[in-house]
Amino acid sequence: MTLAAQAMNVTVIGTGYVGLGTAGLLAHLGHQVTGIDIAPDKIAQLQRGEVPIHEPGLSDLLAENAERLSWTSDYSSVKEADVIFICVGTPPGPDGAPDLRYVISAASSIAHQLGEQCQVIVNKSTVPIGTGDYVERLLEELAPNFSAAQHLVVSNPEFLREGTALHDSLYPDRIVLGGAAKALETMIQLYAPLLEQNFTPPASTPRPEGYTRPATVKTTLQSAEMIKYAANAFLALKISFANEIAGLCERVGADIEEVTTGIGLDERIGHRFLQAGLGWGGSCFGKDTQGLISAGREHNYAMPILQAAIDINYRQRQVIVEKLLRQLKTLKGKRVSLLGMAFKPNTDDLRDAPAHDLIERLHRLGAHVTAHDPVAMPRAEHEWSHLSYTPARDLDHAFARADAVIIVTEWDDYQHLDWNKLLPTMRRRLIIDARNTIRQPLDHMLQATVKQVGRSAPI
Ligand code: NAD
Repeated sequence: MTLAAQAMNVTVIGTGYVGLGTAGLLAHLGHQVTGIDIAPDKIAQLQRGEVPIHEPGLSDLLAENAERLSWTSDYSSVKEADVIFICVGTPPGPDGAPDLRYVISAASSIAHQLGEQCQVIVNKSTVPIGTGDYVERLLEELAPNFSAAQHLVVSNPEFLREGTALHDSLYPDRIVLGGAAKALETMIQLYAPLLEQNFTPPASTPRPEGYTRPATVKTTLQSAEMIKYAANAFLALKISFANEIAGLCERVGADIEEVTTGIGLDERIGHRFLQAGLGWGGSCFGKDTQGLISAGREHNYAMPILQAAIDINYRQRQVIVEKLLRQLKTLKGKRVSLLGMAFKPNTDDLRDAPAHDLIERLHRLGAHVTAHDPVAMPRAEHEWSHLSYTPARDLDHAFARADAVIIVTEWDDYQHLDWNKLLPTMRRRLIIDARNTIRQPLDHMLQATVKQVGRSAPI
């Protein structure tokens, strides 16, 4: 299935959500890919053919392209690489600005291995504007072989969404490339099968009907870096806007679901990212909105819209606790079960997941918290060992003798619950649907109380 007219040697640094998706995509397009990570356990797993994260279709994609993929902790493959991708994490630092230590460490390791031929160093991590220039200066300073004409830095931000990463990588809306013209030519060659869409789609992720090809945006390093931040910030704003309107809907007797349907039909607005509920979580929106504000601060430039979006988002977590308190009066000794721990469906990622906050808040108020997730529970056992909650063995366990169940993540599994079986096992039939996923009326038939976000009338 090798389609790239010119198969290239590619090194991908960082084998997390972005690095693995990138490595799988490029191998599928016909390139020879080496994935590097400093975490030896991840590399050992990948070498055994196991995938360290949950991402639908990824395991098959990596297995199908195994002959073009290798995994190591050793940076020496950088020497022979035509293109080197930096896909390491950029978590928020204490002041909200991204912590660049992993990017700096990856760039320093690359510097010591650069070859003498033309090589393109691509930043796919989300980084503050100016980081591309900084990486170039670092390479110049540290690389014995550095040549400004041969070693070119590009920004190629990533727009994949966890849970649909393969779809987003294979059929993107756009490919954004920032850097010098010569480097962008190499990137266009690298992505040629993607831009032409002349690869065979993997069985797990067929080409969507009507999809033709991605747009290409060629720009400067700075603009490419800014596009990523501005795109995430805008999506975050849309979600917070829906949540702000939802709060007023509850107070004036309007229904947010009908309101967002009504406004989303305006093509200038669109329906996507207008879902009221518990707000965003995950590794990107919180960090990137804060990152942009902190870039503004550095330039003495206030960004009040973004700050408001952040405040509204995190307020939603308390809004849900208050809905529960209004029903139960006190949480002391009450058994509250959460359905969903991952920050969104179809991933096991727990970073900035609303469930984390909810567990902490409910525990502080004296509740006994039980939590269930279709895939994230093993990861939570490691990453959330500091929290006080009981992992639910299954849904029966989550519902049994509960005073309330909160739907936290809109997993498919929770959209087809057997209410007839589960509700009667609860001590009190109270459901807080924090994602507005329940469509059928439960109130009348099963004497349940269902509270949703932005909807005052019972559904
Ligand atoms: P991640 O934490 O899942 O993976 C990062 C990996 O990099 C880890 O496996 C870590 O061990 C490895 N690493 C750290 N330093 C290294 C080094 N010096 N050498 C080799 N490996 C090293 O992170 P992620 O979610 O894949 O995100 C990576 C970047 O992409 C971030 O900047 C993020 O903001 C951005 N991004 C993420 C998403 C997403 O949905 N996760 C989407 C778009 C952009």
